[in-house]
Amino acid sequence: MKLTDSVYLVGGSAYGLSAMGDCNVYLVNCGDELALIDAGGGMGVKRILENIKQDGFDPKKIKLAFLTHCHFDHIGGAQELKQLTKCNLAAHKREAPSIVNLDENVLVEMARDRGLKFSAPKLDGMLEDQDHIHVGNVSFDVLHTPGHTPGCISIKMVEKDGKTSIFSGDIALTTGRLGFINGPGFDLSEWKRSIKRLIAEKPDRLYPGHNTFMLSGATDDLKLTDAKMNAPWTTIVTSVG
Ligand SMILES: [Zn+2]
Ligand SMILES: [Zn+2]
Repeated sequence: MKLTDSVYLVGGSAYGLSAMGDCNVYLVNCGDELALIDAGGGMGVKRILENIKQDGFDPKKIKLAFLTHCHFDHIGGAQELKQLTKCNLAAHKREAPSIVNLDENVLVEMARDRGLKFSAPKLDGMLEDQDHIHVGNVSFDVLHTPGHTPGCISIKMVEKDGKTSIFSGDIALTTGRLGFINGPGFDLSEWKRSIKRLIAEKPDRLYPGHNTFMLSGATDDLKLTDAKMNAPWTTIVTSVG
């Protein structure tokens, strides 16, 4: 589903685009090459590749899939995706051990409860804050934005029309939704700092890992999230039981 000249939504259970357990999966048109943001939970890979074809692209041109963080709904499809397209997989170096070992931060038990089956992805690249990654004619900036998990990243780019965009994984959703915040590796103060950092980047557009994206006014939308996270009336439960 074309969102802009540069960005397509090619997977996500919230839109019925792929399978249950899939986060939003975005395709970036980088000219001769393609980039993906996240891989879904593992049940939707073939539909994601079909969607890419229907949008007029050859999945074999996917050079790199960024994995925003280790949760199963973002990495479950990564290894199958890599096998089918020969793409590379990259994640932040602090997140890599969780991804390749499928440790508790991945929430594997929750994935099994939902009937998802997948093998641990093999990573080709480790990312760090402020890395510049070139795919085709696009330069992506890596922002380490921890809090949801220790090694979550956001990916920043400038689109063909000059707008600044950020793919935020699960660290920032839109419309003031706070999302899932109580997993292993969660850190509330880091999370609050990460939201402020995203605001400082002044994005026009925000493409989160779940639910709806913002095609304009993203910085104001992030300020809404920031206000909600810090409001006296917001009760954030940081432990259960
Ligand atoms: Zn997550
Ligand atoms: Zn998620």
